[in-house]
Amino acid sequence: MGTLDTWHPRKKWGQHFLTDLRLLGAIADAAQVTRDDTILEIGPGLGHLTRVLAERAARVVAVEIDAELVARLRVDFANAPHVTILQGDVLTAAPAEWLAQATCAPTREFKIVANLPYYITSAILRHILESPPRPRVVVVMVQREVAQRIVAQPPQMNLLAVSVQFFAHARIVRTIPAGAFHPRPQVDSALVRLDVFDSPPYDIPDVSRFFALVRAGFGERRKQLRNALAHGLGCTPSVVETALTHARIHPTRRAESLALSEWVDLYRVLASENIPIANFTKPM
Ligand code: SAM
Repeated sequence: MGTLDTWHPRKKWGQHFLTDLRLLGAIADAAQVTRDDTILEIGPGLGHLTRVLAERAARVVAVEIDAELVARLRVDFANAPHVTILQGDVLTAAPAEWLAQATCAPTREFKIVANLPYYITSAILRHILESPPRPRVVVVMVQREVAQRIVAQPPQMNLLAVSVQFFAHARIVRTIPAGAFHPRPQVDSALVRLDVFDSPPYDIPDVSRFFALVRAGFGERRKQLRNALAHGLGCTPSVVETALTHARIHPTRRAESLALSEWVDLYRVLASENIPIANFTKPM
């Protein structure tokens, strides 16, 4: 890479670095990293968190998109054989595939720890939760407002909350002020821990169809479910109204008021009654 004098953090990749050792230690504490752990780190950046993880874990595999940073990290960790730096966009392969590239067995016994690039937080969370084998624990730094959306409950549910809570128990560990990062982002951050379920508590054979339904419901959040779903699924409001009634959900409710279990009930009604809903029958 160029020397540090010529190198600048890249906004487009969400490069806001955390250097405070106590905060870095708090991230590793939140993930309860021990000598038995294999850690997949997303976006190691300048390697500050990587170093703390490497001191505690058996194995660290870190995926960084920025080739210049990768070159620097490979020099910095040349003497740490249990640390592997991979270059690429983390979204292009499942977590287990990244581990396999580092000749690390893709078992379920791994954790993901990251100070996430904020521009693709939701995409990364969905990616890591929807690609089995899933990690056992995920500890990520995200924007505070995103953290609040992840742990939201009815009547403030949202698509990200359903996407995460379907697979994991989510909690906010602590908030971190914007001033702790360099360069300073515009908003505060929060550390979130996800304890991933051994298998999702709801037995849904086709998860992509389930999320197609949820996405349709949140497509027009301010509309009543009857109309939002009719539009999103491409059918008449009366067909949707019948399904909602059978699922014991009042058709005038809005998507954000539904609990996860109610989305599951609605999905089951639509699937079992074989209601001919154009978009629902297509996997998305
Ligand atoms: N871990 C470092 C720290 O805590 O100081 C850096 C965190 S910074 C918020 C996010 C990092 O993710 C940056 O290094 C950025 O280059 C990297 N990144 C951004 N998009 C990525 C992607 N799609 N795949 C892998 N890494 C990515």
